[in-house]
Amino acid sequence: TFRALVLTQGADRKVSGAVETLTEDRLPAGDVTVAIDYSTLNYKDGLVLTTGGGLVKTWPHVGGIDFAGTVETSESPALKPGDKVVLNGYRVGELHWGGYASKARVKGDWLVKLPAAISPRHAMAIGTAGYTSMLCVMALEKHGITPASGEILVTGAAGGVGSVAVAILAKLGYAVVAATGRPQEGEYLKALGATTIMDRKELTEAPDRPLLSERFAGIVDTVSGVMFAKALAQLKYGGAAAVCGLAAGPAFPGSILPFILRGVSVYGIDSVMLPKAPREEAWRRLGSDLPLDRLDSTVSEAGLGDLMALAPKILKGEIRGRVVVDVNK
Ligand code: NAP
Repeated sequence: TFRALVLTQGADRKVSGAVETLTEDRLPAGDVTVAIDYSTLNYKDGLVLTTGGGLVKTWPHVGGIDFAGTVETSESPALKPGDKVVLNGYRVGELHWGGYASKARVKGDWLVKLPAAISPRHAMAIGTAGYTSMLCVMALEKHGITPASGEILVTGAAGGVGSVAVAILAKLGYAVVAATGRPQEGEYLKALGATTIMDRKELTEAPDRPLLSERFAGIVDTVSGVMFAKALAQLKYGGAAAVCGLAAGPAFPGSILPFILRGVSVYGIDSVMLPKAPREEAWRRLGSDLPLDRLDSTVSEAGLGDLMALAPKILKGEIRGRVVVDVNK
């Protein structure tokens, strides 16, 4: 048997959840069974736990878009019992049962073996947010940007993706400009390694010209909107932006001129359907280039029984840092 937070949806679309003990024949199809240690709470999970967010097609459902644990049984040649693994994306926790359970059955192809440096708990402290930050950093590196190229701007710096991006870039030796709307988080961002704290306001007034003074060698953008347009107008000649988020909405009032007069590039980052090789590279890099001890201060722990109460809070932006879910608690 295994424990799971089982979700059902009422006629009013409202989702209810109860922690239940289920037999293994309830697990969905898949060639690998994982004993889950930890999951996390993401914005998308908040949607699934409250209304389903249109993401879930069949009920009852088990949410949790990411998890880490130990392979229990495997028909996949790539994995054997005892392997420590992590799963992000592939619509797990939406279309397929996810991480809010003590067991999961999934496709072996969806699992990435954890590097020895990263425990299952650390993997979930990093979570989809931290893994996405690493993808952004890798895109800037591939473009040829090095610490000698100049400052890197991170927008939404105090958020999940932003904070980890700041920590990774600082560890790699970059000068990081952390743009935040929460000046009270300045000390936290400095402790993560930011060299300069920028008030979000400096980037929230639409640029009055399509090109502003060249300042940043690179950008990690989690916000979009005016902030991204204004940052783009300040990229140095030949610079690049890695864009992954839309905290301020999907549209941005940008100009084509930075592209055609300064030769800048924009890399789109998707973590959900990314192929296996760059996924494995990102997790390997997280094992070497993220100061895990700095992450610990941002983590709070919850159990399966706490999730229904936490879900509305993450949707209202009332959760600070990362919530790690101990599925055996
Ligand atoms: P988060 O923890 O909520 O962080 C977002 C941050 O953006 C906030 O902390 C805030 O930072 C800033 N922000 C929020 N609303 C804003 C507004 N209206 N105007 C300007 N800034 C605003 O979320 P997250 O987990 O880091 O995710 C960030 C974004 O990346 C989300 O849009 C998420 O959907 C996306 N994402 C994409 C992928 C992918 O595969 N592409 C993967 C993971 C996440 P400050 O308080 O510091 O200003």
